[in-house]
Amino acid sequence: MRVPFHRPEIGREEIDEVTDSLLSGWLTTGPKTKLFEEEFSRAVGASHAVALNSCTAALHLALEAVGLKEGEAVITSPMTFAATAGVVRYFGARTVFVDVERDTLNMDPALLEKALKELDVPVRAVLPIHYAGHPCEMDAITDACGKSGIKVVEDAAHAFPSAYKGRPVGSLGDITCFSFYATKTLTTGEGGMAVTEDEALADRMRVMSLHGISKDAWKRYGIEGDWYYEVVAPGFKYNMPDIAAALGLVQLRKAEAMQRRREAIAARYDEAFGKTDWIEVPAVRKGMRHSRHLYVIRLNLDTLTIDRNAFIDRLREKGIGTSVHFIPLHTQPYYRDLYGFAEEDFPVSFGEYRRIISLPIFPGMEDKEIDAVVSSVLETAENNSR
Ligand SMILES: *Cc1c(COP(=O)(O)O)cnc(C)c1O
Repeated sequence: MRVPFHRPEIGREEIDEVTDSLLSGWLTTGPKTKLFEEEFSRAVGASHAVALNSCTAALHLALEAVGLKEGEAVITSPMTFAATAGVVRYFGARTVFVDVERDTLNMDPALLEKALKELDVPVRAVLPIHYAGHPCEMDAITDACGKSGIKVVEDAAHAFPSAYKGRPVGSLGDITCFSFYATKTLTTGEGGMAVTEDEALADRMRVMSLHGISKDAWKRYGIEGDWYYEVVAPGFKYNMPDIAAALGLVQLRKAEAMQRRREAIAARYDEAFGKTDWIEVPAVRKGMRHSRHLYVIRLNLDTLTIDRNAFIDRLREKGIGTSVHFIPLHTQPYYRDLYGFAEEDFPVSFGEYRRIISLPIFPGMEDKEIDAVVSSVLETAENNSR
């Protein structure tokens, strides 16, 4: 049986809502985008939300809004996608990595504190990633930053809906950036959202998301007419179209039910793999709500005769789609060459990278698909055990 790594959950309601946009004559940013912003900000407990065409755009605008400049640094961790560190380089700023905690693969707050003490460049922001949807230790991170006025911009591409000690991800740091890419927990095809409590940051991101055009200018100067605008900065073109927001509105209403289904799949995997010697299942710390965007197993390589890559090949031969999240960024040619990194510079990220496999986990998975993943993984381990 073939099981894809992901299948988006698109139903009749999504199709009807997009059709409604198409027939309404309003295709780009308009009433549906505004409504999506309102409903999403409510869902994550934030006062302001800016809908954008990707999470990468949200991260870029967030760093612009907090004033990142060349010669400054942003601290993040290497267990992430290219976008997280790439946006820092847009400013000519320095991407500083600190390693992750072994159990969650999230930024290690102790290493963050150490980096903040030792760095010889001014740090503008810390950019933690809620890996797989497991919230970072936000109290420790915000405490470390708050002392020195450093902003916390979160990469929450995996973390909707997630919560830290009862507080939703989206209500924790200075700016939180979500992704609605095709494989994420809520999709608009391509899309993203930046949320914040700070009205000035929200205003700046909104202006910079659309050519640096200030729509408020005509009010200030008393010029009549909605044709008038002022360009206050060389902004970008990052707005979300209503066609995408239409998808988002419907997906948002299904988000809780979709999370529950992923939770049930995770429980089934935990039960099947947790008691074997071959596999370590993902840990969830107390007080955390995990979105269950990714289900990442780790192979106990000393119990197996094959490595992770061969394990993935065997699963592919059985028809099971998998992935690896992530190839640590410090090993990628660009960062390796720019900063002269060695693989072992971030030993937890590099060590865990060699044993991780992301298994299929999506709400539309049928029970027989889950069974197929379970039996394929167990068979592969058993047939190649020491
Ligand atoms: C998907 C992803 C992004 C980028 O999201 P886009 O919406 O595709 O720009 C950023 N960070 C992480 C950790 C991701 O997984």
